[in-house]
Amino acid sequence: MWHNLTYFLAQRDFIQYWEKALAFLLPCNCLLCAALQEQLICASCQSQFFDLTLRRCDVCALPLPDHDRVCGSCLTHPPAFDRSIVACDYLPPLDQLLRNLKFGHQLAVAPMLAQRLAMAADSLPDLPDLLIPVPLSRQRLAARGFNQALEITRPLAKRLARPCFSQLLLRVRDTEQQTRLHPNQRQHNIRHAFSPNPRDADKIPGRHIGVVDDVMTTGATMNEVAACLKRYGAARVTNLVFARTLPP
Ligand SMILES: [Zn+2]
Ligand SMILES: [Zn+2]
Repeated sequence: MWHNLTYFLAQRDFIQYWEKALAFLLPCNCLLCAALQEQLICASCQSQFFDLTLRRCDVCALPLPDHDRVCGSCLTHPPAFDRSIVACDYLPPLDQLLRNLKFGHQLAVAPMLAQRLAMAADSLPDLPDLLIPVPLSRQRLAARGFNQALEITRPLAKRLARPCFSQLLLRVRDTEQQTRLHPNQRQHNIRHAFSPNPRDADKIPGRHIGVVDDVMTTGATMNEVAACLKRYGAARVTNLVFARTLPP
């Protein structure tokens, strides 16, 4: 009976009713424009900043002209992952949400990012079998105190009714922070940085794995994660990333 109750509480419908009740009782300021309203992001900002009708490359999620499905770069150099979906581009004022989460420790933002990502995931032909966050190294986790990717993965997994395996992949090498490097150096820096946790390695073969992160810049990290998962037998890898950095 307890199992049935927790199953019910994790269902999409229940989460939506609960959110509506909370919003009615506790109005708040829109995180993007500060207007007082019932949701974390007001309806006007939602339509302005989260355009889910924007055509994107199926593989790397960069914006594309209307008729294409895959960009030229993904056609000539296919990455190790099969597909990517994003909720928005990494531009102001949305970039501030991620900085608040990562450096301002505003963990309450994460469920909202997951909500937007779940809406973007509606465009997928089929959902991944399970979700994992891009892991942080032990050192960085100790310094920051949390993994922002995991904070997004947990509520997203609930919304999509998929299991979350937070320890399935480990970051075995503490690499130089990618943001400090030139795009050409990133792929080399991140090589062999990940390895499956022996305890969970049996979850990989034949599965469609969803990899969750807050932001995708060159795609080098996502590519290395996917390459590692494929080496250990993953059937498919889909990235679910909140924001996509546009090329310069
Ligand atoms: Zn607003
Ligand atoms: Zn592409």
